[in-house]
Amino acid sequence: MNQPSQSVADTHASNHDDIALDIVARVRSVVQTSESVALHEPNLGELEQRYVNDCVASGWVSSVGRFVDQFERDLAAYTGAKYAVATVNGTSALHVGLILAGVGRDDEVICPALSFVATANAISYCGAVPHFVDAEYRTLGMDAEKLRAYLSEISRVEGDRLVNRITGRRIAAIVPMHTLGHSVNMPALLATAETYGLPIVEDAAESLGTTCGGQHTGTFGLVGALSFNGNKIMTTGGGGAILTNDHEIAVRAKHLTTTAKVPHPWQYVHDEVAFNYRMPNLNAAMGCAQLERFPDFRERKQTLASDYRHHFSDCKTAQLVDQWEKESSNFWLNAIQIAKPTDDPLPLRNAILQKTNEAGLMTRPMWDLLSDLPIYSACPHADLTVSQDIAQRTICLPSSVGLVPATA
Ligand SMILES: *Cc1c(COP(=O)(O)O)cnc(C)c1O
Repeated sequence: MNQPSQSVADTHASNHDDIALDIVARVRSVVQTSESVALHEPNLGELEQRYVNDCVASGWVSSVGRFVDQFERDLAAYTGAKYAVATVNGTSALHVGLILAGVGRDDEVICPALSFVATANAISYCGAVPHFVDAEYRTLGMDAEKLRAYLSEISRVEGDRLVNRITGRRIAAIVPMHTLGHSVNMPALLATAETYGLPIVEDAAESLGTTCGGQHTGTFGLVGALSFNGNKIMTTGGGGAILTNDHEIAVRAKHLTTTAKVPHPWQYVHDEVAFNYRMPNLNAAMGCAQLERFPDFRERKQTLASDYRHHFSDCKTAQLVDQWEKESSNFWLNAIQIAKPTDDPLPLRNAILQKTNEAGLMTRPMWDLLSDLPIYSACPHADLTVSQDIAQRTICLPSSVGLVPATA
């Protein structure tokens, strides 16, 4: 094998392949099957079938029905939010959440560069501009102290407005996102937001079941947005929800997601331009079943994470992205991070992605930074060194609930 003519680059490449095959073996021992494994599959059973059948039999399959009401009550009870309003998807929940926080045309909204595109898109739907900020290593989410220093440098107060002194635009809100299910340091972020008088809209699309200091993510800010897309920890096919503790905000959330129709026995009166964002009863039926089974899902996620932790504990190349002190994570997507000493992690990362996917183990990189997408490259951004580094070192691993036997 080791022919003298082999170049240094080739030697590195074959080293990378050996390391990647070691990662393949470790992931194989966790998933305990020789078949191909998806990144994240929904877990559906008899209960979902029963509720969906009941819904069809009732004839109430669209935007009103008892499952919607029950799903909203159950979500509020599970998360500890005072109110939950179900929506067609997580992006619409975020969009309306931003409107409720007062975000409007030509405002700037602080959000992470390391996120799924929906976070920035919801800001754009308001006619506002995303302003990208950096993450911290231990949470993968917004760095509250770095944000505080950044805001003190780039903003000034004009009356009751916080203004970006470079662009002249109002800074209207902060949107933290709980990456892969890991909570942002919310107490620290609340303190920064309070200093600058900014409302928080939490993108909790990935973090149902995650708490920070015992409090559920999505309930710290003025509003929080959940997603029940097919790839999330539980699904309604497609769906989302707005969480809030404020009665007036909850009433307005329902109003804005139901075309702002003023209740009346027969007349069509709509008092503002709003949205058809209500979750159909059919989807809510599935949601009620999934939420009933959710404690079991969450427990199986803990088991899977601890299996990964165990099988990567002696791995020198990469470590499991674990929970940090204040959070109890839902471990929606388990991920490994290539160890620091590697200067340029990309060749190794790509070798790991290549070998795992070839072996039928579906793995994925993190998103590219939103600030690097052509659609958002002209938007303002802070220093993004940490986000960039996390994006290049992190690999998401197969994490379906179904990889672990049911607890009950
Ligand atoms: C899934 C997701 C969303 C959007 O949810 P949809 O239900 O797909 O619209 C928003 N933000 C993040 C971070 C997500 O992962």
